[in-house]
Amino acid sequence: MKSRKYIALILALIALVFFLIPTKKSAKSYITNDGKIHGTYYHVTYLHPDGVDLKDEIEAEMRCFEKSLSVFDTASIISKINRNEVVITDSLFDVMYNEAFAVSELSGGAFDITVAPLVNVWGFGFRSSQFPSDEQIDSILSFVGYQKITLSNHIVYKDDARTMLDAGAIAKGFSVDIIAQLLSRNGCSDFLVEIGGELVCKGKNPKGLSWSVGISKPEDNPLPTNDVQQVLQITDMAMATSGNYRQFYYRDGKKYSHTIDPRTGYPVDHNLLSATIVARSCMRADALATACMVLGVKDALNLCENDTSIDGYFIYSDGDSLKTIFSSGFEQYLKK
Ligand code: ADP
Ligand code: MG
Repeated sequence: MKSRKYIALILALIALVFFLIPTKKSAKSYITNDGKIHGTYYHVTYLHPDGVDLKDEIEAEMRCFEKSLSVFDTASIISKINRNEVVITDSLFDVMYNEAFAVSELSGGAFDITVAPLVNVWGFGFRSSQFPSDEQIDSILSFVGYQKITLSNHIVYKDDARTMLDAGAIAKGFSVDIIAQLLSRNGCSDFLVEIGGELVCKGKNPKGLSWSVGISKPEDNPLPTNDVQQVLQITDMAMATSGNYRQFYYRDGKKYSHTIDPRTGYPVDHNLLSATIVARSCMRADALATACMVLGVKDALNLCENDTSIDGYFIYSDGDSLKTIFSSGFEQYLKK
């Protein structure tokens, strides 16, 4: 009788072990979530210590982000500021604002979130094939400039009520940082977060190695292609790429960039096709990638060489061929 009880107990234990094995195994496997956000796609791969799928939390965080910084959400804080409504900013807005200011200073005004009226007038101009006149650009420039606004006690003050903000070249990177923080808070230490090409990677990939990411080959193709110019091996870093090859306009046989030089008021026109920045935060990498597209190859390279916390990889055209150049610290990321 007693031995039967033991056998039953042993069988129950074996059953329990079998029951536990799959749970333990699933806790060890990476989870991938993807979907649409911020007018583009996101992909998140992570190893959660308890195998918990965080998709709902991730999407909720992204939607909350849009309530602050999306110009496509008419009820967002940034949209209200653009309509000159009285609005108290939140911490997301304040962090973005201060970082945008820092990158404007670092890049000599090449990056500037007050570029919005210029982006609008050129965007409209390309669509209607009615380019803005030099006089129109001159008059808009009188209210473009990051020194013409201030943030104090969560209120944005404008010198000129016509000044408007566009966080399009910094928000995606910031959103990547926010999701990376969410994963860290939830105990994940191995992950890759990517939104529209801007990314943060931490720890190891599912093969137990540093993460491998590709820099796209610049091609005159508005649709994403899988042609990779260079594979990088990075970890515990953020990366962002800005390129004039996917978003541009053609008029009278000439190609115009969607990146505007806020100092001249005109779309940038030089041979730099794509700028990839590796930095500690994706928000900084994102903004600096756009700044570099404004600066051009020589000044962009100088900017990266003068700041030890960032590195850059630039693809430019030289006649009919593509050439690349990178800052000295970038060598370590190139996958041989
Ligand atoms: P992508 O959307 O391909 O990542 P960017 O990060 O370079 O490209 O962001 C491009 C957007 O940034 C433009 O659509 C425009 O809204 C805005 N923008 C254009 N020029 C500037 C600039 N000099 N400084 C800040 N934002 C800019
Ligand atoms: Mg950018």
